Amino acid sequence: MEEIHTHSVSKQNCLKYGLMLIENIPISLDPNELIRHLRLGKYENAMRLVEELLETALPLIAPKAFYEIAYIDKKEDDAVEIGGLSFRSRVLRKNLDPAERVFPFVLTIGGRVEEKAGSSGDLLRQYYLETIADLALLSAAAYLENYLKKHYGLSKISSMSPGSLPDWPVTEQKPLFALLGDAEATIGVRLTESMLMIPRKSISGIYFPTEVLFFSCQLCQRERCPGRKAVFDETLKQTYGLAEE
Ligand code: SF4
Repeated sequence: MEEIHTHSVSKQNCLKYGLMLIENIPISLDPNELIRHLRLGKYENAMRLVEELLETALPLIAPKAFYEIAYIDKKEDDAVEIGGLSFRSRVLRKNLDPAERVFPFVLTIGGRVEEKAGSSGDLLRQYYLETIADLALLSAAAYLENYLKKHYGLSKISSMSPGSLPDWPVTEQKPLFALLGDAEATIGVRLTESMLMIPRKSISGIYFPTEVLFFSCQLCQRERCPGRKAVFDETLKQTYGLAEE
């Protein structure tokens, strides 16, 4: 079975000046990669199982994103002001040193795969479907990143998400969602009192142009994280002036 691409044509809408919605984001999933992620390599009927899981999950995935073309109003020591709202993070502040324009965003694949997984009554199947949803979310995020690069003529961009580092805690979801406006009405993503996004298969953050790619993982010492995108870099941590955890 070859890599699966959803063939929907993404649709972009300008919601109001500077606020953009992208619907029907195409995703691509590689069944062989999926077999590896689901640790089914030794299972004789792995491909058949993956095909069946994808048949179940793909129609339930509805990837969409919205983002704002925003400008930095003020740069302070350990904070930046964007659209009149303050974001407090030493790392974000340093990453935005050369930037003037940024792209705060919320991206989701919706909640239907999670619902299906939760109602399956089978923990293993739940895990399989949740993993497919996670990979679909990453694929949608890759699409958004490429879309921003292409449409705004940016050679390199990176992103940070509230809660990915102690330096930028999850409470910073509040100004982010305030900046973007009504995320629930726009793409159906709600922020709870405890700063979690519902549906859970959602990502929020700020994309910014950069000369050197940045990953929060470079400053994170969590061991055996399946989502790690870059190795921990002690020197970089010192460059950002972050104290020992
Ligand atoms: S290593 Fe894992 S927990 Fe740490 S920032 Fe990267 S993805 Fe997040």
